[in-house]
Amino acid sequence: MEWTRMTGPQLAEAARDCGVCLLPIGSLEAHGRHLPVGTDGLTTEAVCRAAAEAEPCVVAPMIWYSHVREMKATVGAVALDTGLLMPLVETVCDEIARNGFRKIILVNHHGGNRNWLPLLMQDMGGAGKRYLAVLYPPEGIFRGFDHLRESDVEEQHAGELETSLSLHLFGDCVDMAALDGLGAEAGRARPMADVKGYTPVEWYSQYPLAYAGDARPATKEKGREVFEAEVGKLVACIRAVKADETTFQRMKEFESQQNTPLSP
Ligand SMILES: [Zn+2]
Repeated sequence: MEWTRMTGPQLAEAARDCGVCLLPIGSLEAHGRHLPVGTDGLTTEAVCRAAAEAEPCVVAPMIWYSHVREMKATVGAVALDTGLLMPLVETVCDEIARNGFRKIILVNHHGGNRNWLPLLMQDMGGAGKRYLAVLYPPEGIFRGFDHLRESDVEEQHAGELETSLSLHLFGDCVDMAALDGLGAEAGRARPMADVKGYTPVEWYSQYPLAYAGDARPATKEKGREVFEAEVGKLVACIRAVKADETTFQRMKEFESQQNTPLSP
């Protein structure tokens, strides 16, 4: 069920019957020379739609514009400030809830969003929300698929697994010929690496061409396996969120206790 294709009465019924809405969050940014700039969002949307078919819930329209500041040195990035993004996404969640949904799962597969989205979750705690927001997944989409990878270069961005997934989901937008002569981006040394310092040019320093991995052994078949596994994981998450009431109790408990804090 997709929000944009439903009538008002259908939305009201879905809010009442399943109560869960998925909010996909994407990004616009270069993915090497061979993948489309919407790779993360196209993938997230496809995973959400397939999961919503298996376990009924509504998929809200994708938030395409997000945090890609570290990708501004390559063509394709549309970067919003965090100061704009945090209230934007919170307002969208408030509005989804105002339409009757008690539970919202924010689904994100873009690395740059994994820093501020948990912060948004923390800010929403104790803020009087009458709905539950859950951020999913906690880590990158390609964890746990090392057995599929033929290349020995670790998967980070536009590498073998992400390219496989893209070939499976939107192969018509993939330009494998553009990989000729590029191979795995070697990666420059991070500044301050010896003292484990984090700098404003952390990502850019290592991957100036927005390509981290080796996409050459990518195949559609590997992509299908990753996709089906990711859909299965999201379905399990939707079921767990539907069944959960503990978090509501904890939210209420926290809200009353924050005004009269206990002495530990
Ligand atoms: Zn990506």
